[in-house]
Amino acid sequence: MDPFRLDGHLALITGASRGIGRGVALAMAEAGADIVLAARASADLDEAAEEVRTKTGRTVHTAPVDLGDSASIPAWFDGVVERNGRPNILVNAAGITRRAPAEVLALQDWNDVIGVNLTASFLIAQAFARHLIGAAEQGRIINIASLMTAAARKTTTAYTASKGGVGQLTKALAVDWADKGILVNAIAPGFIATAMTQPLQDNDEFHAWILKRTPLGRWGKPEDIALPCVFLASPAAQFVTGQVIYVDGGFMATF
Ligand code: NAD
Repeated sequence: MDPFRLDGHLALITGASRGIGRGVALAMAEAGADIVLAARASADLDEAAEEVRTKTGRTVHTAPVDLGDSASIPAWFDGVVERNGRPNILVNAAGITRRAPAEVLALQDWNDVIGVNLTASFLIAQAFARHLIGAAEQGRIINIASLMTAAARKTTTAYTASKGGVGQLTKALAVDWADKGILVNAIAPGFIATAMTQPLQDNDEFHAWILKRTPLGRWGKPEDIALPCVFLASPAAQFVTGQVIYVDGGFMATF
């Protein structure tokens, strides 16, 4: 058996309509997993499913959801299990940001960012674990953290607080569920070229700073994050839990 393959597994990936989540879905399907793509209902979500299906030949489902609506998450997850089966890999990749100086940050923006980035990650992980524990099955959870799990930039209070929370959530769940065989880790991406960072990519000064500031000298691509996620979901990572792994081209190693 190849210890890096995911054959026979079902992976639920949030934020899978584009960017990092979509890259993770493709890489996990290429490694042999069947996939449930979760994101807000959109043409992008259907396109992502078609892309993964066509390129890999795996079974690919979509599960539209608004992760800002916390109360709906447990029933939504039960519906996914009923329709598509019980996932044993979960990747929490959905995320949003709202930029404002802290002194004028609106409560609604704070709540929206904490809701999608942190509360939804917890509630999906809880529903996922309840199903696995009920069936005495093992599983893997991978949360997508950030450089802002460890450091901050101006005007990112809500995002930084949410991603700091994701780092600690990862450790807390890893400790709670180690004896159930559910391993929980996070990948903390550096600056990745996606729609979320488009305004930063379009800013010449920021772009030049990234190239200079990052030892590997470039923006990351979704694939750079997706392949380490495959590793964390695979048998090769059987003794890895509670870790936040920075995948950032060396960004955090220097200043
Ligand atoms: P993106 O904006 O390209 O994609 C975000 C995804 O999340 C989309 O699929 C979107 O539909 C989904 N989403 C957002 N709000 C949602 C909601 N309310 N309900 C359901 N789905 C929702 O972003 P990305 O750059 O691919 O980021 C993915 C993850 O990686 C996020 O958690 C982000 O914080 C994190 N991250 C990104 C970078 C980067 O440089 N791009 C760096 C560090 C961490």
